[in-house]
Amino acid sequence: MKDITHIRADFPILKTKVYGKPLVYFDNGATTQKPQCVIDTVSDVFTSYNANIHRGIHSLSDKASEEYEKAREKVRSFINAGKREEIVFTSGATSSINAVAFSFGERFIENGDEIIISHLEHHANIVPWQMMCERRGAKLKVIPINDNGEIILGEYYKLLSFKTKLVAIAQVSNALGIILPVKEIIEAAHSANVPVLVDGAQGVQHGVTDVCAFDCDFYVFSGHKIYGPTGIGVLYGKEKWLAELPPYQGGGDMVENVTFEKTTYNELPFKFEAGTMNFPGAIGLGTALDYLLSLGRENIAAREKELLDYATNRLSGIEGLHIYGGSPFKISTISFLLNNIHQYDTGMILDKLGIAVRTGTHCAQPVMDRFGIDGTVRASMCFYNTIEEIEYLGTGIEKVISMFS
Ligand code: PLP
Repeated sequence: MKDITHIRADFPILKTKVYGKPLVYFDNGATTQKPQCVIDTVSDVFTSYNANIHRGIHSLSDKASEEYEKAREKVRSFINAGKREEIVFTSGATSSINAVAFSFGERFIENGDEIIISHLEHHANIVPWQMMCERRGAKLKVIPINDNGEIILGEYYKLLSFKTKLVAIAQVSNALGIILPVKEIIEAAHSANVPVLVDGAQGVQHGVTDVCAFDCDFYVFSGHKIYGPTGIGVLYGKEKWLAELPPYQGGGDMVENVTFEKTTYNELPFKFEAGTMNFPGAIGLGTALDYLLSLGRENIAAREKELLDYATNRLSGIEGLHIYGGSPFKISTISFLLNNIHQYDTGMILDKLGIAVRTGTHCAQPVMDRFGIDGTVRASMCFYNTIEEIEYLGTGIEKVISMFS
């Protein structure tokens, strides 16, 4: 892997100062920073070949369409999907989950059916299912978690029944950084003939994700959390499901033939891509994936593990700091609270030191309810962070504690 100085030089924003202090960016779970190559790619689309895709016969449109389809192939290969037809571009993980919740609900869900999610989910993997359940008369069942924040598999097995029509779970909890036992969850669901959607929004950027090895039926993620542009996302679906599901949006490009009497739909994946797609975003995402491959995904995972171990050790040595999610199966995210100090105060003081952390419920209110708290401070690290930055965070936290004591 490139050395850290060169890696950091790839991300221009990391030179920013906040309140006169060098930016220490520990909010990668919310969104990641962009390498120069991604910024250049998006700029190049607008500078050199901006034209609507799949519509024109002119050269610019051809070029934009070709680059867009190349990006689809890069996504396919990155998550090891079998076919490009199984890769649908959306605006993000949220819209991918909503698409499945709507289309799957319309096609397969009836009164009394059940959907299983876990207690660790982001609101994006809760609310669309609640909406679907309300529309279709189905019930939402929730896999509980233990005091470490790990899901209780035994309880999950008990929830699975002939009424279960779909399981939707996160690959990694955004609030606590815990990695879920996705493979076991999928195996059990499949042995009951139930398909599984995996929300990879916090998983895909931290190592190698292989949807074939998972054997998941749907997989979703957002471009902006994997060093790509905002407003682009991915929905992977096994062809057998995507072929069966009705489109969730109608409009240009998703159709084959339109008359007032009857419309027929385009082939996969275009059936699910209505209207002008975010092609600069998709092409930029392709560049982001190339960039990660050039660093090596195993290298990224190893480096982030080093950061997690160092940070866990450093922060857990601070008196009065409590880490939530004590599981050994984690990505490089630490969620914590300081005794008698509100998370917003901690976050605001750290910001004055140039440290960006996330505070609040992290769009995972049920996780906070489970622990009887109204939020945490979350430091989410990635491969461009350094041990020195973790030390600086540690010193910053000690400063917060001393200000309140
Ligand atoms: N799922 C998880 C686990 C997340 O962490 C997030 C965002 O934080 C989402 C879904 C939603 O992602 P987006 O807002 O990019 O659609």
